[in-house]
Amino acid sequence: MKKRIVLLGPPASGKGTQADRLSLAYGVPHVSTGALLRSECERGTSLGLEAEEWTGKGLLVPDELAVRIITVWMAEHGPSFLFDGFPRTVGQAIHLDEALQSTGVPLDLIFLLELPDAEIRRRIEDRLSCLKCGATFAASLHGFSDGVACPRCGSPLVRRNDDNALALDRRLEVYKTQTMPVVSYYGKTAPSKLFRIDAAKGTDEVFDSIVGILNRH
Ligand code: AMP
Repeated sequence: MKKRIVLLGPPASGKGTQADRLSLAYGVPHVSTGALLRSECERGTSLGLEAEEWTGKGLLVPDELAVRIITVWMAEHGPSFLFDGFPRTVGQAIHLDEALQSTGVPLDLIFLLELPDAEIRRRIEDRLSCLKCGATFAASLHGFSDGVACPRCGSPLVRRNDDNALALDRRLEVYKTQTMPVVSYYGKTAPSKLFRIDAAKGTDEVFDSIVGILNRH
């Protein structure tokens, strides 16, 4: 089984949902840098307060901060991972390659979840999130409203403070200018490991596509 996997994709492309399912199915730990940062903000740590200056506006935190938080996570969890939301810049991708080179275990697979902007906006407008366990829900599908208890952990579901139209515009722009180059980077450095997935399909179909590729490689 492949044990070092990166999920790339725009906001609301289902990275977290797929990473959760894959983690459960294959026993590889899942980490979302966005969720780690939100948890730091919730707890009011100095790192969280530092990060909030960028996250609330829909901007990326500086590479140094993202690398710091992922380095601590890797030291605690070992060499297997499902990364959701990291790397988000070419600088972070280079850092990850260097960190893996020093351990002698390269990245296994990179999945790019592709979704058109209109569908991203539709999903974000309808999204409620649990800041404790990271689960997300389509409000209209489940009949949920703000404050309802998370079916998974019981914490109140909320609209993320960066799930608003202004911050989303920025996040989409940032995705195109700073994260799409990461796709080109892997297209050049690891073309046989990069797979594009149509994320507009249903959750089960997307999961099956990823599993099919995982089983073949
Ligand atoms: P996400 O939950 O993945 O949508 O991330 C939420 C926010 O956290 C992003 O809009 C960024 O502000 C920040 N963030 C998450 N991951 C990274 C990263 N790898 N590099 C820089 N900023 C990040």
